[in-house]
Amino acid sequence: MHITDIKPYPVWVGTRNQMLVKIETDEGIYGWGESGLSSREIGVKGIVEHYREFLVGRDPMQRGALWQEMYRSQYFEGGRTLTAAISAIDIALYDIVGKKLGVPVYELIGGKQRNYVPTFASGGGNSPEEMIDVAQRMIAQGFDCFRLHRAEEGGPLVNEGIYEPREAIANSAEGLIKAREVLGMRPVIGYDFHHRLSVAETASFCQMIPAHTLDFLEEPIRDETPEAYETLRTMTNVPFALGEEFASKWQFLPYIERGIANYARVDICNVGGITEAMKVAGWAEAHYIDLMPHNPLGPICVAATAHMAMASANFSWLEIRESAGESTGFYDKEVFPVQPKVVPGKVTVLDQPGLGVEVDEASLTEPFRYSEMPHLKRNDGSHTNW
Ligand SMILES: [Mg+2]
Repeated sequence: MHITDIKPYPVWVGTRNQMLVKIETDEGIYGWGESGLSSREIGVKGIVEHYREFLVGRDPMQRGALWQEMYRSQYFEGGRTLTAAISAIDIALYDIVGKKLGVPVYELIGGKQRNYVPTFASGGGNSPEEMIDVAQRMIAQGFDCFRLHRAEEGGPLVNEGIYEPREAIANSAEGLIKAREVLGMRPVIGYDFHHRLSVAETASFCQMIPAHTLDFLEEPIRDETPEAYETLRTMTNVPFALGEEFASKWQFLPYIERGIANYARVDICNVGGITEAMKVAGWAEAHYIDLMPHNPLGPICVAATAHMAMASANFSWLEIRESAGESTGFYDKEVFPVQPKVVPGKVTVLDQPGLGVEVDEASLTEPFRYSEMPHLKRNDGSHTNW
């Protein structure tokens, strides 16, 4: 068997672009992958087209060797854009190998360790009362783990491009304290700051909230400097969930080995596909760290990540983007007529060969839309992080 074509499909699905990749072979077997470098999809498409030049004619069964070749054959190895392209290709190769051998992907990476994949949802509101209301609706649906946010700082609802950290941490603490009081001890509650804070601001936030207000704090600061996280680690005992931006096992290395990450937010469509994610999973297992994968994309990302979850012992919750807390349209049934079964609180992968996802190429009619995340500024006009 050899690869005959690699086709990138940057398309609009629901409320965002998805960067899909199809790999075809001479045996008629094909595989689908997805890349996760959101809002830079066209850059990734260029890398996929470059890789196509030397991957056509190659044996898809040799996915591990092809991973090494894609990552290391250039002098400037790795990096987020290259690895996002490698991720999509690697996932598609696993889909092909599973179909060729007649087994679901989880059988290729260790076999089933659980019957379904537990999931968490996200939701928020403009006031503590709205936050509590959306949390109660997610609980009623069947979620026992969720992220809450104050809407004015939780993504697209950021106030007209202004993000003022001190206002944000006060609002967040106020909402979370009231939510925990009302919701009780049982729900697992997380909060994602989208790496918008400094070390001092994060410490202030953690001092504002009583013990067991939060079960995990996601990405309070940026990740370029692990030493900054080490400093922060000495200033709070709230568990950290981080790693969704990491583009290799090497980026995870300091965060796992220095005891900084408490949950690994591995993103299978950015870290280097199933090949690299399983190495991170094993490394995290050795340090008793559970995976809490980043999964903000479409059904291919859901499926690939869920197969990893099925075959990993150290797993907590998979992020899912449809719930009472939000409606994204990412899991479009027309575009993806076959996909994992997503119900509140759990995902079940299909037992058919490969990933268990089918894409209706005739339905990929919504073209890519140029879009940027808001370019956030503080009140004084200075730039801050999206
Ligand atoms: Mg996040």
